[in-house]
Amino acid sequence: MTTSRTEEIAAGLAETRERIATAATAAGRLAEDVHLVVVTKFFPASDVRILAGLGVTDVGENRHQEAAAKAAECADLDLRWHYIGGLQSNKAAAVAGYADVVESVDRSSLLPRLSRGAGERGQIIDVLLQVSLDPPGRAGRAGANPGDVRDLATEVVATDGLRLRGLMAVAPLGEEPEPAFVRLARIREDFLVEHPEATVLSAGMSGDLEQAIAHGATHVRVGSAVLGERPTVK
Ligand SMILES: *Cc1c(COP(=O)(O)O)cnc(C)c1O
Repeated sequence: MTTSRTEEIAAGLAETRERIATAATAAGRLAEDVHLVVVTKFFPASDVRILAGLGVTDVGENRHQEAAAKAAECADLDLRWHYIGGLQSNKAAAVAGYADVVESVDRSSLLPRLSRGAGERGQIIDVLLQVSLDPPGRAGRAGANPGDVRDLATEVVATDGLRLRGLMAVAPLGEEPEPAFVRLARIREDFLVEHPEATVLSAGMSGDLEQAIAHGATHVRVGSAVLGERPTVK
């Protein structure tokens, strides 16, 4: 049972790494410049353990309660935990208690809370600004408006305990990802003028990692292509 799950995950991982390498080569980039974050939401801590055993260094979670429990269960593993989900203000300090990278920072009210969490933990937290690629007004829209990124970045830089590392985005549902990632690449170009050291671009998932890599993604967040279909929970 454990052996077959390990083999299953190893196969998904190998296939995903192959896709990343092929996409990087096609874009004239080095495969090692594109980092894989395996999204483990809805999957058990035992899968995280298998991933670590297979050489995965970065995992992503999007729900605080689940992430906190899993990070605690896997505290003995040398993993970087990425928080990629919507952030409630009242959970932000707690998220900074285990997340090494918070990818979903989209408003300034989160910053003092993340800073407090980082301070209590005694660790600098890496921050990505989540940029919305959705049309304004769309329901369930997550991320900052592109026009607000500049001010938000300035505020992150001025906040103790946080280190601005770059941008994150999710392609809009039900649209071709390519034009959205083209827009993202332009937003990033402007952003890098003022923050040339914040070079991370987290974009691309199981369905669109090739397009994201073509447009500059340095980190892809991949769940189902590695771990299989997510168990259905509400
Ligand atoms: C779930 C999730 C992913 C991974 O999605 P897959 O399609 O399973 O690869 C990536 N990014 C975010 C923000 C997610 O919530």
